[in-house]
Amino acid sequence: MKMFENEKIFILGMARSGYAAAKLLKNHHNEILITDAKPQDSECVKELTELGIPFMQTEQPEELLDNSFDYVIKNPGIKIDHPVCRKAKSLGIKVTNEVEVAYHFLPKDIKIIGISGSNGKTTTTTLIYEILKKAGLPAVLGGNIGYPVCSLVENVQSGDILVLEISSHQLHDIIDFKTDVSVLTNLSEVHIDHFGTYDYYKAQKIRIFNRHTEKEIGIINKDNKDSMEYVGEIPSSKLFFSATGEADCCVKNQAIYYKREKVVELKDVLIKGMHNVENMMCAIMAVKQFDVKNESILAVLKEFKGVAHRLEYVDTVNGRVFYNDSKATNVKSTQIALSAFDNPTILLLGGLDRGHSFDGLKEYLKNVKKIITFGETKERIKAFAEELQIACDMVDTLKEAVETAYNSSEVGDVILLSPACASWDQYKCFEDRGNEFKECVKSFR
Ligand code: ADP
Repeated sequence: MKMFENEKIFILGMARSGYAAAKLLKNHHNEILITDAKPQDSECVKELTELGIPFMQTEQPEELLDNSFDYVIKNPGIKIDHPVCRKAKSLGIKVTNEVEVAYHFLPKDIKIIGISGSNGKTTTTTLIYEILKKAGLPAVLGGNIGYPVCSLVENVQSGDILVLEISSHQLHDIIDFKTDVSVLTNLSEVHIDHFGTYDYYKAQKIRIFNRHTEKEIGIINKDNKDSMEYVGEIPSSKLFFSATGEADCCVKNQAIYYKREKVVELKDVLIKGMHNVENMMCAIMAVKQFDVKNESILAVLKEFKGVAHRLEYVDTVNGRVFYNDSKATNVKSTQIALSAFDNPTILLLGGLDRGHSFDGLKEYLKNVKKIITFGETKERIKAFAEELQIACDMVDTLKEAVETAYNSSEVGDVILLSPACASWDQYKCFEDRGNEFKECVKSFR
């Protein structure tokens, strides 16, 4: 019997991925129950109900699970020890997810590139997709980046190349899902709350190489100690990248080389920072497996401004270069952003006050000639800057901060929004904050 055909399936957690999985599974004659603790979009619920897929809003979904079910399809955001997962285990029911479901319904003659890692997934995934498109190849973008794989299945055709961002939460529950080319950007200590221990988290991450043999390609960060510890367990044909030494893809004289051939000079790209050099190397290595020419890679890298709000290049106005890093809602992210620039920098800092310390920035401020602070944390940041004897202007809003920064800037300065605070004191989300920053920059034109 084919997997996920004529079976009884329990979908735990709806949102976009549960909804997409339900529709796909229904098309393949499965009996489905979908549950969520929270109310869901009423149009989607109505559509599912009309298709014969009952939705139950409940805080005790485990009461609805019995041994008549064949699979539980768990939303990746739900904890791995949720009562439904525990009950499924005791009943001998497999727990998996929508990526696995989709995999079984994809045409067999496609290629899949999977991207995982602690940081840089979205940037790397986007770059790979953009370069393949530029080269005229039939690339399809999806996964954790916002398009559930189940929602793509109907439109995927023979010969397509799927470019999928896959999170550790998704990798945890896959069974047969296998890529042709997998990228592991890096491993660092995140998501421990979800997985309990760092070792368990790392073990999930290397499942991006699930079911690989030496016919498949694994792209690995040679500079990342934690990734290298696992090399022995990765069965793929391995390719390594390094920003600091020799590797299949590496950096020499301020240029990226792949297999000894120069691909791009760093001065020609808009995205900044060593972390983005690593992301570019990952992307170059992945697309090279599809015989993409350097001219397509160059064309994209010369214009790619970064993923929105992640150290995104905005514009250069009268010699002042603006970057939007609104996603930097903590000190660690702002450290990464500050490490990316050698130019004199005016830093826009501030937002929701969680009582967190800014001391972690001290070592990273050598190019910062001025801080403009705004939002709830502004007084604490002003005191922090005074202690370090860095010029600091305190204003109320981001709009005032951008204007003040521009008025105090000179040709060649970087004006960087990397606020090291969440946005919720003044905005609904960091995207709104970043968009307002970009609007302000536009007004200088
Ligand atoms: P993810 O999808 O893994 O969250 P993103 O590409 O969205 O990663 O980048 C989010 C943030 O993570 C960036 O703004 C930057 O601060 C940091 N980052 C990105 N790439 C890397 C990398 N290769 N190594 C370390 N940090 C990175």
